Amino acid sequence: MTVFAKPGADGSLMSYQSRYDNWIGGKWVPPVKGQYFENPSPVDGKTFCEVARSTAEDIDVALDAAHDAAPAWGKTSVAERAAVLNKIADRMEENLEKIAVAECWENGKAVRETLAADIPLAIDHFRYFAGAIRAQEGGISEIDKDTVAYHFHEPLGVVGQIIPWNFPILMATWKLAPALAAGNAVVMKPAEQTPASILYLMSLIGDLLPDGVVNIVNGFGVEAGKPLASSNRIRKIAFTGETTTGRLIMQYASENLIPVTLELGGKSPNVFFEDVMASDDGFLDRALEGFSMFALNQGEVCTCPSRALVQGSIYDEFLERAVARVAAIKQGNPLDTDTMMGAQASSDQWEKIKSYLEIGKQEGAQVLTGGEPADLGGDLSGGFYIQPTVFGGKNDMRIFQEEIFGPVLAVTSFSDYDDALAIANDTLYGLGAGVWSRNGAVAYRAGRDIQAGRVWTNTYHDYPAHAAFGGYKQSGVGRENHLMMLSHYQQTKNLLVGY
Ligand code: NAD
Repeated sequence: MTVFAKPGADGSLMSYQSRYDNWIGGKWVPPVKGQYFENPSPVDGKTFCEVARSTAEDIDVALDAAHDAAPAWGKTSVAERAAVLNKIADRMEENLEKIAVAECWENGKAVRETLAADIPLAIDHFRYFAGAIRAQEGGISEIDKDTVAYHFHEPLGVVGQIIPWNFPILMATWKLAPALAAGNAVVMKPAEQTPASILYLMSLIGDLLPDGVVNIVNGFGVEAGKPLASSNRIRKIAFTGETTTGRLIMQYASENLIPVTLELGGKSPNVFFEDVMASDDGFLDRALEGFSMFALNQGEVCTCPSRALVQGSIYDEFLERAVARVAAIKQGNPLDTDTMMGAQASSDQWEKIKSYLEIGKQEGAQVLTGGEPADLGGDLSGGFYIQPTVFGGKNDMRIFQEEIFGPVLAVTSFSDYDDALAIANDTLYGLGAGVWSRNGAVAYRAGRDIQAGRVWTNTYHDYPAHAAFGGYKQSGVGRENHLMMLSHYQQTKNLLVGY
């Protein structure tokens, strides 16, 4: 067990600046209107830094810097860009523990997750796209004996990116790595709840990029995000956040016919067929672990398996064991490597989740475990903690239909395959899903029949860089990760040559 010191305290690996300006053109630039907002840690509820509160004027300054940088960066060879991305990955790896602590303190998530998953995965995305851009090939087709068509991949130029607070570094990386590999310059707006970990990252890697290729402008959605998404000086806007915000982003971008990628909300089903109970073995153990995956990252995951569907014939027996496992999840100081569940990311999010605990009770759902905020006492008493909660109920309840984005699981039963699929697909969303069955044919068929962009069978919550990710229905537009992501940040030049 290791308990990391809090940022800035004696013995800490890293410290935050007390004030962060925007990162524009390779340097810190104060906001044009001189305003800042306070940034509290959800671990103890106390402000640890203030951050630039930007407006349209700051977005313009960042767009100027990006436009200055884009032509030269777009003309670099793929080998040069790949080398920069690999250097970023190396620098992040050298500073892995520092970045993991930074993100833990700002977001409230357990450091065991940032150390083992978030930051290593972020590093791998830079390496993956460094390789992908070198492997990508153009095309040549012979039109007739006198004419040849060449297809070239060109960068879009300057792109806008707006990201949420649930995986600050990873969400930034998912967007930065392919955009940079493809030769674009970026203006990014992080979430107002978690601006500092990305700015801390820029303080570590900023010198590896030409000035102006990556610009980070902080502030609130309408004040800073809207002018970015509405600008006619970007060639694309990539957004991750709530479905309601995604609709607005699409409206803003449509004014200038700017293409969008939208990674939005979810209410993912996790389906347990009766054969998971057939034997008390490693498979059942994995399925039980899969059930408790809703608590990963305190449930603040777009693909959180927030609806569990358990076949009626095993409902009581399976739930008895699964709920006991949930109740044993260790909550505590996020900086302690033994802690499995930390704090919710913000007081607003904490309040929202608490309101859903009440909604569930008022709807008549059965509280199988949890159901209350958690007071962890001591230094953590001001933090935003929630008990991992399992409700039993019906799929038409609000707790089954609305994204809570917290450690709250809604469980129901199904009779047979068709019933399971009908319940699983009875949602506005279509982002993630899980299927658990020892029968490979059932797992495969359900995996194909569930309307979601990512279905895990007999596993959950893996996010490899080389697997396409994105939503069906109101969970999104477009995909991220995988080689195909490069094309979202490129335009194709066709040169038709007559000889
Ligand atoms: P949010 O939509 O409130 O905010 C996301 C970002 O958009 C923030 O940077 C915010 O400042 C900005 N924003 C808000 N209003 C805006 C506006 N009018 N114009 C421009 N920008 C605006 O979402 P959130 O609460 O930060 O994140 C949680 C949501 O993100 C959940 O719904 C979750 O499912 C989703 N999410 C999706 C994925 C995915 O890959 N599909 C991944 C992570 C999170």
